[in-house]
Amino acid sequence: NQDFDVNSAARNWRVEATAQPTPSELVTGKFASDVLTPDQLKTRMSKSAFRSLQATAERGETLDPSIADTVALAMKTWAMEKGATHYTHWFQPLTGGTAEKHDSFLNPAGDGVAIMSFSGKELIQAEPDASSFPSGGLRATFEARGYTAWDPSSPAFIVRHANGATLCIPSVFASWKGEALDLKTPLLRSIEALNRAVTPALKLFGASEGTRVTSSLGAEQEYFLIAEEYYYRRPDLVMSGRTLFGAKPPRGQELEDHYFGVIPDRILSFMTDAEMQLYALGIPVKTRHNEVAPGQFEVAPIFEDSNIAADHQQLLMQVLRNTARRYGLVCLMHEKPFAGVNGSGKHCNWSMATDAGENLLDPGETPHENMQFLFFTSAVLKGVDEHQDLLRACVASASNDHRLGAAEAPPAIISIFLGSELSDIYERLASGQGGRGKAAGLMGLGSRVLPEIPIHAGDRNRTSPFAFTGNKFEFRAVGSSQSISFPITVLNAIVAEAVAQLVTDLQARLDGGEELGVALAELVRETYKKHRRIVFDGDGYSDEWHREAEHDRGLLNLRTALDALEHLHSPKNVELFGKLEILNDRELAARQEIMYDIYFKTVNIEGETTEYMAQRQILPAALAYLAALKDVPESRAAAGVSREVGELTDRLYDALQALREQNDALGGEEVHEKAYHMRDAVLPAMREVRAVADRLENLIDFKLWPLPTYRQMLFVK
Ligand code: ADP
Ligand code: MG
Repeated sequence: NQDFDVNSAARNWRVEATAQPTPSELVTGKFASDVLTPDQLKTRMSKSAFRSLQATAERGETLDPSIADTVALAMKTWAMEKGATHYTHWFQPLTGGTAEKHDSFLNPAGDGVAIMSFSGKELIQAEPDASSFPSGGLRATFEARGYTAWDPSSPAFIVRHANGATLCIPSVFASWKGEALDLKTPLLRSIEALNRAVTPALKLFGASEGTRVTSSLGAEQEYFLIAEEYYYRRPDLVMSGRTLFGAKPPRGQELEDHYFGVIPDRILSFMTDAEMQLYALGIPVKTRHNEVAPGQFEVAPIFEDSNIAADHQQLLMQVLRNTARRYGLVCLMHEKPFAGVNGSGKHCNWSMATDAGENLLDPGETPHENMQFLFFTSAVLKGVDEHQDLLRACVASASNDHRLGAAEAPPAIISIFLGSELSDIYERLASGQGGRGKAAGLMGLGSRVLPEIPIHAGDRNRTSPFAFTGNKFEFRAVGSSQSISFPITVLNAIVAEAVAQLVTDLQARLDGGEELGVALAELVRETYKKHRRIVFDGDGYSDEWHREAEHDRGLLNLRTALDALEHLHSPKNVELFGKLEILNDRELAARQEIMYDIYFKTVNIEGETTEYMAQRQILPAALAYLAALKDVPESRAAAGVSREVGELTDRLYDALQALREQNDALGGEEVHEKAYHMRDAVLPAMREVRAVADRLENLIDFKLWPLPTYRQMLFVK
């Protein structure tokens, strides 16, 4: 019962020695101190061995096996200096989390003597007992073995715990046939595909021989913090990460004084502690602030190479979750932990850059850079328009459904916000006009056919799922709890395909004798006209937009995760991933199957938890209250409340029977049938139970209510 006292939840945090104030001189020294950076490795290896390793890491060349032992020795020595006793291949299975299986460096050397050893063979490949990871049919039981293999392009690092440390070696995970069982392998392949597609374009624009291209990524992470006491009293939070019950806090509590407001001391201590650990891991976190909802916060790093950014994003979530516990807090990453309160996303800022650090989506200052800029942004328009389904599918999950399409987060309809300056430029190109745009301060382009481009167009549109923000695109539909690897893979893939097709067109024009500037202006104009329907700068939450998008523009509106997942393994997408050598048909099918399975399991757990809580916690509370009211004879108030609570309690009972029936039904044999059963039968039955229970919450004696309320969870800091 309601004996958990708000006061104790607010006070019950002890910062022991964990948070020694860190003088700022130490901060820079701390940066990447737990990372085996190339510089660190260099001092521990011969010049030639290091060069050979770099060729592998930076240019994807096959590693000379004789080098592996040297690297392994250097890694072990470094790790042991840092206090590590174990190592692990650290990988990203299709569950969306990370996986690790630790092996000790220790090896008995006979006669009761032990040595610490780590060989090149152990570094390069391992075979975790991984038969329980989802494989979506890629691995039958008879071929259950899966292998992890070192990814030399992401540096190894140390993860510390109270009694030591573990050397983590970023790795891929594949079946014995070489089919990807993880999220990193296709990401690495997509980075290669992007490089293969973009470098020929750069060559046309005069880039120097040997230029390499990669994608850059900065992911802003939103999350909630609540007091730990409350968390453990909520079976729904523990089991499913979101509240399955809970009446909204009274209106007026929604004063928007939290957003960017003063960060409470306890929270700030937590943030600083987490940041220090992230710095040590070489994760360049930069900004922190309160988010829109009470109890909601955000952290954002400076962008990095997308493979490393994806590794770092997983680590960031892990560090936030672990650190919160030291402050008596729990970090909720769920997309919608509280109904009726703003949800959490993960905005993925994406761009392309050369190895010389040139951002290809930066308008730049010369006509030459501007040509490139228009070419590449056109490719993004084309890619997003042609693959709306994929962008929607790569963020599809049961949890993200509570956010996408609700009246707050980006809608489930994929469109692009360009901002008025850039839209204006494209519109003028489309209509064949030159001259200056409506925005002031545009710089001259020095070309008769291409318009001027503003530098870092500043306007913002918070309702767009995919927005141009000056020198990058921001994909905002990504869920707060999900791995960013697949969304980046999709972005790399759709842009790689579009760039390759545009390069073919451009080359044909050049072969036909057109001048580069003219050919490019023509190509950009045509591409824009063809894909203009994807550009939308208005309010993405509005009803008009839903009508316009679907009916006038023919854009997809894939409302739920399952609507989107149906598209994932379509012939179009099989072709896209196949020709770019990112995922073969079977690998793509496996991902679809696993996403259905995760959807099914997620809602299944929620359905059963709802049943449990309604039956074992809420119904008893309602009945206890009714019994208590019986002890108040001849009171009009008691009679009135009793009647109301009695009616709702009966309705709760009925709704509960209906939910139980759906929980017990299967919906079919196939995983997608089970998933549809969850969406179409279990979720509606859960909603019915919740609706009644939330009304009871507002009627029943506070002391009898068995769950911490929204008011407590969201406002106690
Ligand atoms: P916002 O546009 O959300 O107000 P910022 O300009 O601070 O914020 O950028 C947000 C994120 O975008 C940061 O993580 C930042 O590192 C990232 N970002 C900036 N430039 C790039 C780029 N070229 N490629 C990828 N991410 C980038
Ligand atoms: Mg943002």
